Amino acid sequence: MTELTHWINGQHVKGTSGRFQDVYNPATGEVIGQVPLASQDELNAAIADAEKAQVAWAATNPQRRARVMMKFGDLINEHMDELAELVSKEHGKTLPDGRGDVQRGLEVVEVCMGAPAMMKGEFMGDAGPGIDLYSMRQPLGVVAGITPFNFPAMIPLWKMAPALVSGNAMILKPSERCPSTSLRLAELLKEAGLPDGVLQVVNGDKEVVDGILDNETIQGVGFVGSTPIAQYIYGRAATNGKRAQCFGGAKNHMIIMPDADLDKAADALVGAGFGAAGERCMAISVAVPVGKETADRLIEKLVPRIEALKVGPYTGGNDVDYGPVITPQSKARINGLVTSGVEQGAELVIDGREFSLQGYENGFFVGPSLFDNVTEEMDIYKEEIFGPVLSTVRKDTYEEALDLIMKNQYGNGTAIYTADGDTARDFAAKVNVGMVGINFPIPVPLSYFTFGGWKKSAFGDLNQYGPDALRFYTKTKTVTARWFSGIKEGAALNFKALD
Ligand code: NAD
Repeated sequence: MTELTHWINGQHVKGTSGRFQDVYNPATGEVIGQVPLASQDELNAAIADAEKAQVAWAATNPQRRARVMMKFGDLINEHMDELAELVSKEHGKTLPDGRGDVQRGLEVVEVCMGAPAMMKGEFMGDAGPGIDLYSMRQPLGVVAGITPFNFPAMIPLWKMAPALVSGNAMILKPSERCPSTSLRLAELLKEAGLPDGVLQVVNGDKEVVDGILDNETIQGVGFVGSTPIAQYIYGRAATNGKRAQCFGGAKNHMIIMPDADLDKAADALVGAGFGAAGERCMAISVAVPVGKETADRLIEKLVPRIEALKVGPYTGGNDVDYGPVITPQSKARINGLVTSGVEQGAELVIDGREFSLQGYENGFFVGPSLFDNVTEEMDIYKEEIFGPVLSTVRKDTYEEALDLIMKNQYGNGTAIYTADGDTARDFAAKVNVGMVGINFPIPVPLSYFTFGGWKKSAFGDLNQYGPDALRFYTKTKTVTARWFSGIKEGAALNFKALD
């Protein structure tokens, strides 16, 4: 078992609080590491050093900062397999999925290589006699990233790359369940040329998060995790005068219209519903077939596909479709929700509760479950299950299906499968969800767009990555400059238009 560390001032540093949390290999159920949970003193010291390091980093010209991202991108590519294995070992996802986790983070690093072009300000010459106006974007100072367990590489990279390239220092608080990838990324950033102290990885739990929220040096907080915590962090950060963007949970629906290609829709549902054991904020967890015939045919097509899924450890080779869930508590919660669905009257077409894998009996595996005839009042519809469970809510018309999505408290992602352009365009225009797929099941935007949900899936007004992230991590300063020439006038006391 490994004792993990923090990453402070360019070095691994042992925890001194005496508090630790177990880190599992979810496939075997073994405790493989102990992550230190930092004290307030450890956090405050890391922030104070970051504040000092940020001054020189902000004064480094933007192109040089971007070059650190270029080198970092090369190093991530060189270490792709190693990083994917770190992700999979602590999270449980398959190795190809672990690689995808790293890849979708790397793509944000790639966009940050061009950050100087996105950080340019605005200029208006001769806005009045001898008067020029210009605005510039300056870093916030020291910011914090607080990330969830389900993308141990991608989401820390979504946080650190835009924050650092725009001249901030960052305190990164990764999920205590999957901390190792962030520590390795910090080593690679040092190798890429990032000065010591500019990225501090402080491991911990609620105590560290609260310390971040109350620390006066921290100017901005980027959070990703569950909705109750996102809302809490947004409120406390805002009360303390910090800029905050907090991304929360999801319940993503896919409408399947009668004219859809049902084979393609069924394949998409299986991939988006069960990939990564359903532990994705963009997972499709609710299928909404329109019309009885569509629903019956869809279920018929889903059943053999779901029954064929291979559940196993990340070491199980290319045959494995998805791995274990993150903790024994998570497994118990998912199985409990499936039981509640049965008790509340949904039809359990495939039951994954009793799944067990020979040789991995202590792993946190959950078999795939498929529900039909789910209704809006049931807990399996209302709760974010975050497990390999697909619910089917039947609707008679497109309008009813759209209305179901509109009324849901979450608004992260959604999709429609149809052959009709009018329906697809209507759906994209009307639906109150941040990311929409048309014949596309997991519409995570590419890194030169931005990522963010609506309603209770996000708190704050700017999205993650892309141009929005650079706006989030910088503040605007606008200068009105006048250079006098000729005879100097006396003071002007009235507040007037420039003439
Ligand atoms: P979580 O909310 O339990 O934890 C997220 C982070 O918050 C962790 O770093 C954790 O240490 C910290 N935290 C947990 N409890 C806290 C508390 N009481 N006070 C302060 N900090 C606390 O989330 P998770 O289980 O790690 O991740 C899964 C959730 O994240 C799901 O709800 C999923 O939908 C969501 N998610 C959302 C997005 C998105 O972009 N919208 C992306 C990925 C995951």
